[in-house]
Amino acid sequence: MRLLPHGMKIGHATVIVDIVPKGNPEIRPGIPMKARGITDHDTGNKGRGADAIAHNKLLHNWGKLPVRDTTHVSWHGAIDEDYIIQHLPFDEPGFHCGDGWGLNSGNRNTIGFEKCMHEGANRTKIEENAIALYAFLMKEMDFPINWIRPHQYWSGKYCPALILNKYGSFLPFRNKIEAAFKSGAAGKPSKPQSIVDYLNAQGQDSSITARAKLAAAYGIKGYVGSEEQNIKLLGFLVVGKPATKPVVKPAEKPKEVKVVVNPIKKTDPNEPSDLAKEHWEEMKANGYLDGTRPHDAMTRQEYAVANNRLRKNLLELINDEEARKARFEKPKK
Ligand SMILES: [Zn+2]
Repeated sequence: MRLLPHGMKIGHATVIVDIVPKGNPEIRPGIPMKARGITDHDTGNKGRGADAIAHNKLLHNWGKLPVRDTTHVSWHGAIDEDYIIQHLPFDEPGFHCGDGWGLNSGNRNTIGFEKCMHEGANRTKIEENAIALYAFLMKEMDFPINWIRPHQYWSGKYCPALILNKYGSFLPFRNKIEAAFKSGAAGKPSKPQSIVDYLNAQGQDSSITARAKLAAAYGIKGYVGSEEQNIKLLGFLVVGKPATKPVVKPAEKPKEVKVVVNPIKKTDPNEPSDLAKEHWEEMKANGYLDGTRPHDAMTRQEYAVANNRLRKNLLELINDEEARKARFEKPKK
């Protein structure tokens, strides 16, 4: 299975398939993968609104950035109470295991799902959605239960943190997945969420006329309200595409609109990323780098400067021990 069944329901969630286009190989390397199991994650993102839709937008935004502004971080799908959103095909790898790029790495062999943990998240429902999804994929992709692994298995990182906190280990959660798989029921996608229900919940006009207008705005031609068209339209509405989201005037007073906080930050060319900040400041303070252009590639001469400073410091450290020095330093000709 390469793509989840878009529009169907798994657990309590509607499945949305919204694949990140190729372009940035640090987000979508695009090489073939024969998936050997699933790696389970919790996002680690406790922010308000950091739900599956926000994570989908985040990955799509990263996918559009140049490589110098990204790091190797991506995953196949995000799970929250209401949605399971797939961003990478299952026959291509992502970067979610933190264990490198070796042929036997988790990155190169497994499908990665991020379970959301934003403020106010209903984790019971989210866990149930993940269990149903993993049971479904076990069946579809013929995965044995011991191929459902925590991120921790690959790199030692304490992830999925909320699962490990709750159960003390990954095993009790995996047992639930196995039970769901054996029962057969949890792993079956059910009929799609109704677009009429979705629009009503958003306080939007759900009449066929209003839906036809929305469909036209999203490029769905000849809308007659067929199931296929409704599923397609619902997908567009949920992930907010195209970028300018058309709104049809609500029939009545609209309900409060859910605020989605987009966790992506604009990249300042003079500021290192959060990941690199500490190291950047220390290298700067100790004279290895001059503190400019944090996102540029390093030239050979800059490499020589930084490394020679390190070399000189090391030599000074061992200077009075001639025998050890000889091991590190060959005399100049
Ligand atoms: Zn993880």
